[in-house]
Amino acid sequence: MTASYLLQSPADLSALNTMALACQAEQVITLSDEAQLEQILNAKHQHEPLFVLSGGSNVLLPPTLTATVLRPLLRGITVLDDRDDSIHIEVMAGENWHDLVLYTVNNGWYGLENLALIPGLTGAAPVQNIGAYGVQLDDCVTHVRACHLPTQTWHDFDKAACQFGYRDSIFKQQAGEWLITRVGFALHKDPTRVQAGYGDLQAQALQLANDAARQHINPVDVMQAIIAIRQSKLPDPKVLPNCGSFFKNPVIETAHFHSLQTQFPQIVGYKVDEQQTKVAAGWLIDHAGLKGGGIAPILSHEQQALVLTNHSAKNDPIQACQQDVAATQHFIQQQILAKYNIMLEREPVWIDRDGQINMSNTTLAS
Ligand SMILES: Cc1cc2nc3c(=O)[nH]c(=O)nc-3n(C[C@H](O)[C@H](O)[C@H](O)COP(=O)(O)OP(=O)(O)OC[C@H]3O[C@@H](n4cnc5c(N)ncnc54)[C@H](O)[C@@H]3O)c2cc1C
Repeated sequence: MTASYLLQSPADLSALNTMALACQAEQVITLSDEAQLEQILNAKHQHEPLFVLSGGSNVLLPPTLTATVLRPLLRGITVLDDRDDSIHIEVMAGENWHDLVLYTVNNGWYGLENLALIPGLTGAAPVQNIGAYGVQLDDCVTHVRACHLPTQTWHDFDKAACQFGYRDSIFKQQAGEWLITRVGFALHKDPTRVQAGYGDLQAQALQLANDAARQHINPVDVMQAIIAIRQSKLPDPKVLPNCGSFFKNPVIETAHFHSLQTQFPQIVGYKVDEQQTKVAAGWLIDHAGLKGGGIAPILSHEQQALVLTNHSAKNDPIQACQQDVAATQHFIQQQILAKYNIMLEREPVWIDRDGQINMSNTTLAS
């Protein structure tokens, strides 16, 4: 028999988003299995708005949320196929992402180690195809199971059908329509296979391995180096609320990049192809003198200009809200546009009052 889901009405979501924005939801439903979702959808009117919330580390929530919030906290990891050199697993949406990385690496199952310490739950990871240190989720994904909420139909996506791209997937393109319940991963068991070409990751990992006899690093070394680098560079949302990188690295015409290089010889960019160059958004903000700046209480981080942080203390009578974030976003975008003629694009997802995902890049208030 299906256990019943948990319903809260109303619910305070300020502790359920890592930016700690004030948000009151009219109704929150916590799911622990797939059958509960069917029960809920059958009981609802087709056009009633729904919004899916997992770890809340990539969302900018509105002060009032009228949509029914669905929290897919389904748990479980199943081995589908175990061979000498590889393993195929299926992970339920509610498994904590970093705990999954630790679990797989500690079992000698490799491939996810570069994605250590990214906040959030497994079901959200395919949405923006999470990536870090030269690896993206789609390097290991085999399949995704998801429910199409408007039609209440279940779909099994193979990797190609997920349409993964840089911070992109079909689930992001059709934002708000899907609820992912399971993600499959193909992992390998070869401890000599690592992805350590990114920046000074190799050197950091060797230094941490602290073993002069060892010439080669293994996936555990890589994971530990990444955890150490991230802990030293990124503010912990539990201490200083934030939602990670706030702006995407903009891709501009290479001719534009060359003209900026004459003015700013140190500007950091990577060739995408003959025509396009990806520019480090953090460098642009830092060298525009905006590191640590913004409109209080939302300020760029002192060490990581790309991260916007919420300085309103948890017990302040007035908690920061979505509009405060919009003010700083707008301020930084305008300064960067004026200085470099580049419009920065927001990475976290802006949620409207009715739970709709707002794709506009210049939203000022909901
Ligand atoms: C300190 C910090 C560092 C970060 N570093 C990185 C990084 O290195 N690389 C990176 O890519 N990201 C990074 N992020 C962003 C974020 O952690 C990821 O995008 C993460 O996958 C979001 O997971 P979540 O569970 O918090 O999703 P949420 O914030 O709850 O949701 C994000 C979006 O996904 C949708 N969604 C959530 N769950 C589901 C589901 N089960 N089915 C369908 N849709 C769903 C939501 O509706 C929303 O639109 C960072 C964030 C922080 C705070």
